Amino acid sequence: MREVQKSLPPETLCAQQAADMAQINALAKREMTPEEVYTFSVRLCDNEIDRDGERFDEQTLRELAALFIGKSGIFDHCWSARGQTARIYRAEVCREEGRTTAAGDGYCYVKAMAYMPRTEGNQELIEEIEAGIKKEVSVGCSVREAVCSVCGAARGECEHVHGKRYDGRLCYTELRGAEDAYEWSFVAVPAQREAGVMKRFSPQTRRTLKAFLRTEGHKEALTELEQLEWEAALGKRYLDHLRRETLRYACLAEPELNEKIFASALQKLNEGELLELKRVYQAREEHAAEQPQLSYGAREQSMADGSAFLI
Ligand SMILES: [Zn+2]
Repeated sequence: MREVQKSLPPETLCAQQAADMAQINALAKREMTPEEVYTFSVRLCDNEIDRDGERFDEQTLRELAALFIGKSGIFDHCWSARGQTARIYRAEVCREEGRTTAAGDGYCYVKAMAYMPRTEGNQELIEEIEAGIKKEVSVGCSVREAVCSVCGAARGECEHVHGKRYDGRLCYTELRGAEDAYEWSFVAVPAQREAGVMKRFSPQTRRTLKAFLRTEGHKEALTELEQLEWEAALGKRYLDHLRRETLRYACLAEPELNEKIFASALQKLNEGELLELKRVYQAREEHAAEQPQLSYGAREQSMADGSAFLI
């Protein structure tokens, strides 16, 4: 057996450092030199099923990697009190060959590169990172969807239980569609072994009230909720109708109007505003319909005296 030792040629290292500095300086308030910054890598999150029975799929990890670029991370309370922060300047999904997740596919994780200024105040912290003491990272992010791995239903909407197998398929919740990455932080390892991913969900992926009432057996409350839903749908139909009517009158009264833009503007108005607009346009349209000759005559008059060409 022959021992092989390989190292990158100096020009490759320089190219990597130049690329790092370009990415750092794109984020930094002022131009920084390689001597002024300390860079290190962190593992932000992975596709392993966590203690909540949830995991990100690989595509979502890729989206999260992009969202974390530029985000500042804090160190645990004792450090953050002194204002120590580091900022991510590069993030990508990496694979760990030979390792499989509990779900049975290849393990991958978001590896991020972060930088912090080499100041006197940061020296002790840099030494700790170098020594490998502060390795645990916790992140906060939000996703669009949280679905059952067995049937694909939104979380809480099916009967499958985390950790159980159905026809050989493990049940867990898959988190999909990265929406935002809020924060990341270093947590002192011995104090908080449970450091991990903090996830937040968009309202539609949060466990719904309906799903809650159904599983907890609140029959009366469920009936009341369904009645409210029906009424809300009725209200929505009324507002949609009002918007269509307002748009129709507006287009009749103002043929120049860009229908698409106006329709989108109407989406932002409340009932009172819509009623008022509709009243005005309807009155104008009806007025024009009653006196078609007058408006035509007025136009012809202005053409005759040439005033139509005046601005
Ligand atoms: Zn399910």
